[in-house]
This record gives sequence, C-alpha cells and structure tokens, in this order.
Amino acid sequence: MPIHEAAGTAPRFSSYDAIVVGGGLVGSALAYGLRRRLDRVAVLDEGDVAYRASRGNFGLVWVQSKGMGMPRYGVWTMTSQRVWPELAARLLEESGIDVHLEQHGGLHVLLSDEEVQARIAFMTNLLAQPGMSQYEWKLLDRHELADLVPGIGPDVRGASWTPVDGIANPLKLLRAFHTTFQRNGVDYLPRCAARTVGRQSDGTFVVDTPCGPLQAPRLVLACGLGNKALGAQVGLDVPVRPQRGQIVVLERTRRVLRTPVSTLRQMDEGSWLIGDSQEEAGYADREVSLPILGTLADRAVRTLPALRDVNVVRAWSALRVMSPDGFPIYAQSDTCPGAFVATCHSGVTLAGAHALVLAPMIADGALAGDMAPFSPRRFHVQAA
Ligand SMILES: Cc1cc2nc3c(=O)[nH]c(=O)nc-3n(C[C@H](O)[C@H](O)[C@H](O)COP(=O)(O)OP(=O)(O)OC[C@H]3O[C@@H](n4cnc5c(N)ncnc54)[C@H](O)[C@@H]3O)c2cc1C
Repeated sequence: MPIHEAAGTAPRFSSYDAIVVGGGLVGSALAYGLRRRLDRVAVLDEGDVAYRASRGNFGLVWVQSKGMGMPRYGVWTMTSQRVWPELAARLLEESGIDVHLEQHGGLHVLLSDEEVQARIAFMTNLLAQPGMSQYEWKLLDRHELADLVPGIGPDVRGASWTPVDGIANPLKLLRAFHTTFQRNGVDYLPRCAARTVGRQSDGTFVVDTPCGPLQAPRLVLACGLGNKALGAQVGLDVPVRPQRGQIVVLERTRRVLRTPVSTLRQMDEGSWLIGDSQEEAGYADREVSLPILGTLADRAVRTLPALRDVNVVRAWSALRVMSPDGFPIYAQSDTCPGAFVATCHSGVTLAGAHALVLAPMIADGALAGDMAPFSPRRFHVQAA
C-alpha cells in the first residue's frame, strides 16, 4: 500500500494545536515529536506530483565532513547521531517497523594520493574549529581498510574512518513515522497542500487548503522547496534551491559491506546504492543522465571491483533542499510569532534531533538560544 494511503485522508478537526506543512522526513520527524507534547497535530502534504527528497535519498546517518564553516552544525549533527538509537527504538515500539539503524562507523574512500592529502587537511581543519564537536577519526591505509571492506580495489589509497557514522533505511523511516501518525492520532492529510498561510489578529494561523481552512496557534513550515513561497507569507525568509542528486541501485547480493562508504552502501535487504551527485540542475531537469551515472559507477567499481558483475536494477534522481551555505535553516518568525520553519539537506541524519530535540522547542514556543546560528539572518549579514 502506498505510504500516503496508510493514514487518514480528511481532517478530523478545523482547529489543531499545531499544523505541520510537509510530510517528508523533516515534517514527519517534527510532527512525531510534537505529538508527544500536543494533542491535536495535523500534517499537510501534497500528492505524487511533489518534489520529495525523502523518497529518493541515500540513507546515511552521517557525521564526518559536516560543519566546516559552521561548527554549530557539526555539534547539531552529533546531537542527532546520539539520539538516533532512541528514535529507532521508539519507532520500532510504536510502529512495529525496524528502520535498520546501523552505527558501526563509516568510511570516506580516497582514490589518489592527492585525495589522501586533501582529506587529512580537511578533517584536521574541520575538527580544529572553535566550538566544534570532537570525535575520533583515523586515516586507514589500504591494509587496514581491507579488513572493513573485503575485496577493496587496487586504486584505493585509503579512507578516513570515524566510529560515529552510520546508515538507516530511509523509506522504512518515513513509513515508520507515518505509521505512528495513524496509531498516535496525528492527522496526516495527503493531497491537502497549504495554498496560503496567514496569521489572524488573535495570533491564530489559518491555512487555506483544498480540505478547507485549518487553524492552529503553531504553524511549522517543513515542506522542503515549498518553504520559500509559504515562508514569505509569514515573515520567514527561506532561500532554498533545488540541487539534483542521482543514485544507482544494484541488485541484491549477500550482505558483505557492513561499514558504509559515503558514496557506496548496502541496504539491509542486500541491494546496493551508489551515490550521489550534486548538480545545480534547477527544477526543469529531473531525469537521470548517463555521464553522471557512469562517473558514480566508475568510482564504485574502483572501490569494490566485484561490483562489476552485479546488475544495475534502477537509477533515479531527486532534488535536495539546499540553502545558500548548505546548512539548515531553523527559525521562528519575528513578525508572526508561532510560525516556525525547518529545512536541511540531511533529513535522515537529523531525524533524531528533529524529532527529539527541535520538536519540543517548537512545542514550547521558542528555539533555544544556541539555535541562533541556524537563523536565516545569517544570509542578510553575509549579503551586507
Ligand atoms: C540523492 C539524495 C541523497 C541524499 N542522501 C542523504 C543521506 O544520505 N542522508 C541524509 O541525511 N540526507 C540525504 N539526503 C537529503 C534528505 O533526503 C533530505 O534532507 C530530506 O528528505 C528533506 O526532507 P524534507 O521533508 O525537508 O523535504 P521533501 O522530502 O522534499 O518533502 C517535502 C514535502 O513537503 C510537501 N509540500 C511541499 N509544498 C507543500 C505545500 N504547499 N503544502 C503541503 N505540503 C507541501 C511535499 O509534498 C513533500 O512531501 C539526500 C537527498 C538526495 C536528493
């Protein structure tokens, strides 16, 4: 059964404690967390026409590389990595779905001596930033790497490794959130897009939808690329743009890769994902392209030559939700207090923090002071 048919389809109320616009990974994690504090929560979503990164991603729960230029983001990512096991356990208990969280460490494979030198410099500078979270990392040589990745290719020079990286199954994660909605009484409303959002003089937000007007004192914009237009209606500047990513999927094999590589992972059921490109392709082109897929596949085969004999079963592209500096945007509106926005390009990694740390702040009506670096005010400062 498609995910969107697993939950109710009509609003039970005209007034909610919180309305979350967007039922992808960001909106779903927040709605899940809000429901732990609030009685009436609705999630508005579009139908199959939507741009939905949440259904096309790689599923890394990833720490290494995150936070260069914004150490607070590195800390936030570590926060999420730490609470992820609690989220996975709760989802298993409340939905019966195992999201296959595996946090046994992760690798960034290096295919030349130049890549090795650049990686050492990058990781050293990343972790030397004032206020940055600290975690163990090592540069593994070919021989050390061979213990973690059996059959490593002759081109591989080494890899950076941390114990804090991991993976999950992103479709099962989305499905688990949506299943809890059904069981915990969150109104998930597919094909019920927010057309406009506005705030009345008494502070209540009114959302115009095809299901009729819906009201709430809290409005959470978590609708990915849709945040830009809706944010402007409640005083929130959300300068997001699409960034295309392509992924190649190989057929199932016996599970051999337990330690994921940033561009190569094996799913819990045995299929392989090779990823993922970062292309400024706008909205117009959502197709896959052979040159990009070929580049991705080439790197994967150089990493693990045995993959040459494993069949490609599909490939897809999806649009990331990207801010100008690549970091998340979290903010409450100054002019329309009670309206929040949340958007990021690592919605799997940050699902733990969104559900268990950010959602309680929104339920309480204020973001903690240390969330200030994520405000879109930073773009105005940069512009000035
Ligand atoms: C190729 C690729 C690989 C990735 N790999 C990873 C990874 O390994 N790890 C990781 O952490 N992240 C990864 N990501 C990023 C991750 O997928 C996104 O951060 C996450 O899915 C964003 O979720 P979202 O809910 O903000 O947006 P979306 O998934 O785009 O969802 C937005 C939702 O809002 C709805 N919507 C839009 N407008 C409206 C409206 N007006 N009213 C109601 N609903 C509306 C849409 O219908 C949609 O369901 C990857 C992304 C891509 C594209």
